[in-house]
Amino acid sequence: MTAQLIDGIALSKTLRAEVATRAAALAARGHKPGLAVVLVGDNPASEVYVRNKVKACEDNGIHSSYDRYPATLSEAELLARIDELNRDPQIHGILVQLPLPPHIDSHKVIEAIAPEKDVDGFHIANAGALLTGKPLFRPCTPYGVMKMFEAHGIELKGANAVVIGRSNIVGKPMALLLLEAGATVTICHSKTRDLAAHTRAADVIVAATGRRNIVTADMVKPGAVVIDVGMNRDEAGKLCGDVDFAAVRDVAGFITPVPGGVGPMTITMLLVNTIEAAERMAASAEAKRV
Ligand code: NDP
Repeated sequence: MTAQLIDGIALSKTLRAEVATRAAALAARGHKPGLAVVLVGDNPASEVYVRNKVKACEDNGIHSSYDRYPATLSEAELLARIDELNRDPQIHGILVQLPLPPHIDSHKVIEAIAPEKDVDGFHIANAGALLTGKPLFRPCTPYGVMKMFEAHGIELKGANAVVIGRSNIVGKPMALLLLEAGATVTICHSKTRDLAAHTRAADVIVAATGRRNIVTADMVKPGAVVIDVGMNRDEAGKLCGDVDFAAVRDVAGFITPVPGGVGPMTITMLLVNTIEAAERMAASAEAKRV
């Protein structure tokens, strides 16, 4: 069997076109959507991510403000800037690029973002809302993965899903969204005793570890759906995921490539979350006017 490829670039294109239409409709009502992106320090990977996010906004009718601060910025200064952005009516989403320099407490910073502008969905209020099945924002990466299942008609109700990784930004919210969709979910991590025993029983595998080749062909049930969130470099410095793509694609039913899979979807869902935030704020502003 050769797996069907889940193309994150093609799906992103469709979803971004929808974003652009919704952004234009909001702008016509006098509510041009706006995303504030904040970067502290000069981490080269973060710079690339931020640049891509700002460009994606510009390309799809979302206004973006980009604050670039030196690594010497104090925590108090950053919190003051977030407070300003929280009160800025032109800004509907705030994204502080992680990681932050070690002298800044990233939890404190995330908690300072107004939950209704927390388009990453990392604020404790949004994490709690997701846990109780009433999400305001779904974290971008797992939300993008859910859109991939939807676009390919992949049935999750009753499916056995294994998520490898338990981080707050990928693994845990991914598991919650799968649970919400009716899957039977197992979360594996570095202390899991027999990872392969879990993955072999899975209809859906989502790998999010940052460990190259953690999922090999012998660990995958024929026909299973394999989603690769990981972003690693091989010996030649080429971008690759957590899954042994060349071998697993002969066993799986569906598979995402790296690059061109989950990565572009993450940025797309940031745009979607910004539009959702702007639509909510526009509706509430218009309701106050009447
Ligand atoms: P973290 O480092 O926060 O979490 C990694 C998780 O993997 C941990 O829960 C860890 O377990 C688990 N893990 C590590 N080694 C093993 C192992 N040998 N067996 C089973 N589980 C293991 O990473 P993130 O969740 O932030 O990101 C995961 C990957 O996804 C990274 O490669 C990252 O770059 C990528 N990523 C990609 C995005 C995209 O848009 N494509 C977006 C966000 C992240 P434990 O908790 O026990 O330590």
